[in-house]
Amino acid sequence: MVKSQVKVGVLALQGDFAEHLDVLKSLKVNCILVKKTEELSDLDGLIIPGGESTTIKKLIDRYGFEPAIKSKIDSGMSLWGTCAGLICIAEKLTEEDPDPMKFISAEVSRNWFGRQVDSFESNIKFEGIEENIKAVFIRAPIVKKISKNVKVLSTLEDGTIVAIQENKIMGTSFHPEITGSSKVHEYFINLTKL
Ligand code: GLN
Repeated sequence: MVKSQVKVGVLALQGDFAEHLDVLKSLKVNCILVKKTEELSDLDGLIIPGGESTTIKKLIDRYGFEPAIKSKIDSGMSLWGTCAGLICIAEKLTEEDPDPMKFISAEVSRNWFGRQVDSFESNIKFEGIEENIKAVFIRAPIVKKISKNVKVLSTLEDGTIVAIQENKIMGTSFHPEITGSSKVHEYFINLTKL
């Protein structure tokens, strides 16, 4: 059954949570910033924003978010990690730190574009969205390997995977919340309604 109304939280420990909240508000989605595990209780979806993944993961551990998010996922909550958020939810990283939460079956590499260029924009195709979307990459990770349950939602022209989905969990290596388009957020809301 598809839900008509959903409540979505944005994990507000560090990073650009405010920008995600603004996009959700512009879509008239019932949304909150999440600073305490209790605030997860009535959520249908959660966004872990971009920022600094080691800091975000340290705070996730400090406040006990990992088991709390896990049990919400088990009862059907959707989850979307953008950039540092994707790093935090990966199965495995090519780096030592942080210790990821293993919510999506993918191996992720941090700061992939770091040496050539720290930040750039690209117009890319995204599954289910007709027009190309503007994607902003800021010291972005990429997806190196996926298991066969994981769907690729978006790649760069050279085939580099930058957005994935496994059931109700998705990850994007770029920041759709600062582009003025709400298309990727709409995709996540539709996923949340399932
Ligand atoms: N490079 C950052 C990290 O590894 C992520 C950058 C971002 O979220 N924009 O945590």
